[in-house]
Amino acid sequence: MAKKDYYEILGISKNASQDEIKKAFRKLAHQHHPDKGGGNEEKFKEINEAYQVLSDTQKREQYDQFGTTFEGGAGAGGAHWQDFAQGGPFGGFRANVDFNDIGDLFGDMFGFGSARGRRGHKRKEGRDLEIDTAIEFMDAVRGVTKRITLEKLQECESCRGSGSEGKGGVKTCSTCGGAGVVEQAQRTFFGTFTSQSVCPACHGEGSVIEKPCSKCRGEGRALKEHAFEVTIPPGVAEGTTLRMEGKGEAGVRGAAAGNLFITVHVKPDSRFRREHDDVHSDASITLPQAVLGDSIRVPTVDGQVDVKIPAGTQSATVIRLKGKGIPHLESAGRGDHLLHITVAVPTRVNRKQRELYEALAKEEE
Ligand SMILES: [Zn+2]
Ligand SMILES: [Zn+2]
Repeated sequence: MAKKDYYEILGISKNASQDEIKKAFRKLAHQHHPDKGGGNEEKFKEINEAYQVLSDTQKREQYDQFGTTFEGGAGAGGAHWQDFAQGGPFGGFRANVDFNDIGDLFGDMFGFGSARGRRGHKRKEGRDLEIDTAIEFMDAVRGVTKRITLEKLQECESCRGSGSEGKGGVKTCSTCGGAGVVEQAQRTFFGTFTSQSVCPACHGEGSVIEKPCSKCRGEGRALKEHAFEVTIPPGVAEGTTLRMEGKGEAGVRGAAAGNLFITVHVKPDSRFRREHDDVHSDASITLPQAVLGDSIRVPTVDGQVDVKIPAGTQSATVIRLKGKGIPHLESAGRGDHLLHITVAVPTRVNRKQRELYEALAKEEE
């Protein structure tokens, strides 16, 4: 029989109060519930087992007296999860479990929550939609208004979203009598007991449509093409996602619509490279330009600008053009333009040039 320290499992001291035990259990059960991401079924069972014993004054006394395991066949230390599901190893343990408490705790996880949580269950909301759009490099710099067309569930024109055909309205659901919930016997980790669940006939709404709209079959929404314009702000970067609230799928019969997420892709530009809000580009100068200095015209996002090349410019020099980059998306100001200079060494020279280079070479001896 495995030895288990229930106090250690719940992370509490040997003289913890009932309140502390309950608190520790709630916290850990939430954390390790197997239905949750990162949940751990074994751990969850262990936590529950510890709680079942320590929350019961009588069993706790017994447990404290006999150490980390119970004596006898029905020992809690060796109890398996299945035992609990089938009523537990302790004859009357269920009588001591605060079901309201557990209902609150696990209602959302198991879907057998209390009536108050389910009454007037909301109609199904519209889903979020995600689309992609591609824009030109320069549109990302200046901002652009883009026309987008997509097919999505929208309010049904035929019934104006009510879901009813003609004058027929809604009537109280006969399955649940309008409560939106039905009583059900549920088998759970804590044994079998009566619970309430969402009415399958009306999906918790408490009412049903007398004569559903033939176009949308009572949903109040239908698939339709939707064209709209979206303003893409200046400075938007590759992969930026814009959120348009309520522009997703329409909800069922007027329930809240989802949101629309638009991910912007920026097409490359042959002249420019972007790094954060800085623009990089290359320029090639001749040997005489590098030695003597000059002024060259280069493209920037603001158009052609004249850039002074100082005398004695080395290859791989980077000239920074302040404020000629991309507007910051979330603040004032702009990035810079960084011009990467390459000095082009001629691979072929004519006779005249050769003579000049030879003369230059002599001069430098
Ligand atoms: Zn309709
Ligand atoms: Zn119903």
